Amino acid sequence: MSTHYQHFKVGIIGAGTMGAGIAQVAAGYGHRVLVYDIENSAIDAAIARTRTALDRLVEKGRIEPARANQLVARIHGCTALSGLAQCDLVIEAVAEDLEIKRRLFREVESHCCEQAILATNTSSISIDALAEDLQRPHNFLGMHFFNPAPVMKLVEVVSGAVTGERAADCVYQLARSWGKVAVHARNSPGFIVNRVARSFYAEPLRLLQEKAASVETIDLVFRESGGFRMGPFELMDLIGNDVNYAVTESVFNAFHKNPRFQPSVLQKERVDAGALGRKSRRGWYDYSNNNSSSQAMKKPLTHSHFRPQSMVIQGDIGVAGDLAARASEAGISVTGQAGSGSIRIDGVNLMLTDGRTAKLLSEQWGSEIVLFDLAADFASTSQVALGFPVNCGQPARDTAIGFFNALGINVSIVADSPGLCLMRTVCMLANEAADAVSQGVCKVEAVDTA
Ligand code: NAD
Repeated sequence: MSTHYQHFKVGIIGAGTMGAGIAQVAAGYGHRVLVYDIENSAIDAAIARTRTALDRLVEKGRIEPARANQLVARIHGCTALSGLAQCDLVIEAVAEDLEIKRRLFREVESHCCEQAILATNTSSISIDALAEDLQRPHNFLGMHFFNPAPVMKLVEVVSGAVTGERAADCVYQLARSWGKVAVHARNSPGFIVNRVARSFYAEPLRLLQEKAASVETIDLVFRESGGFRMGPFELMDLIGNDVNYAVTESVFNAFHKNPRFQPSVLQKERVDAGALGRKSRRGWYDYSNNNSSSQAMKKPLTHSHFRPQSMVIQGDIGVAGDLAARASEAGISVTGQAGSGSIRIDGVNLMLTDGRTAKLLSEQWGSEIVLFDLAADFASTSQVALGFPVNCGQPARDTAIGFFNALGINVSIVADSPGLCLMRTVCMLANEAADAVSQGVCKVEAVDTA
């Protein structure tokens, strides 16, 4: 490690999931780490978990056995908060409870030196609320790691109203020297990620509630067309519906019940029924019999043997322009003409959704319109979602499905709702990101990185 913070002694309060992970990260970069927990057994368990995790890395040949031993030897338990008195940085990762955290910070501040920086790993509690009773609030801030801390790269460095520049810069540099990607954020509900990411769950939950698409279809479209590693329902099952719901509720309340963040009745029903996700073996999917996968659909069921001979690109079709080259490669004759942005095949207009429904557009244009959803990359996507107007004839459906199939693209059918699946969600993510930037929560680069 090259920074002048290398000598820092790091204290961790709370030896649970996050505390143990953060201790491993800090020790991995050469710091002496002191871990305190109200339960002594939790400290031993955390060190044992770290040992097991490192042994696994040794087995895989990722680190040398000697390095693993050195790393674990740098982590020490301590049985009283006063034991953290010599620490330059103390990171708190105890239960998400304002009063417990406040009490701990008041006490640890009384033991530590003037320059010591105190940081909280809270996901949802206001940094300013936590700093309220502190003598040196300029040395207090959020250092928000993600789970699992040794693996996840991002760290949000969250400044409260009176956090000093020295503390924010120091924690930012330190996180970077620990191999993390650090971003500065101002204290605000959900900071960056937990605020912007709400739409990733909220819009799919709304689609489900509106019966616009099934859980399986939405996940398939997000993964295969949107390029996301997991669909929103698979991810909710991994995080836990209870945890995910609680974060949404907390952000919703913090924003004075702004309907954009409204928690979902459907998710609440899951939580109430104990369908928490993988951890309860039942969530949006069934994980009984040790099923490790979500059984999300791997392939859509829709297919058409219709193969178009030719197509006309009318006007600018924007990000969907790469479909023209794919059509040519598939032997379809492609011509262009002026127009308002659609692909015309045998009297059917295919349009990238812009928020208007296919029904509305069909009525306005007096011809059959089929909408297709956004894809992360139309040059390579193997999947797209289509929305048909009600009363859309079978020939128009076959034409649209057959066109995409001819290009090697599988089709999922979703309801003709504004923005379909991906466009709707991506627009809301972008909107929330822009809102966070416009409100001074973070810079454009930070929200992109986060
Ligand atoms: P956890 O339940 O796994 O661990 C909490 C630990 O704190 C336990 O070992 C408990 O014994 C200890 N503790 C409780 N009260 C204490 C006290 N008064 N003094 C000392 N120790 C005490 O919790 P976690 O999942 O590690 O979460 C910790 C914090 O990190 C929370 O603020 C949470 O919001 C935040 N966070 C969690 C995640 C996550 O995915 N788990 C991700 C980011 C941030």
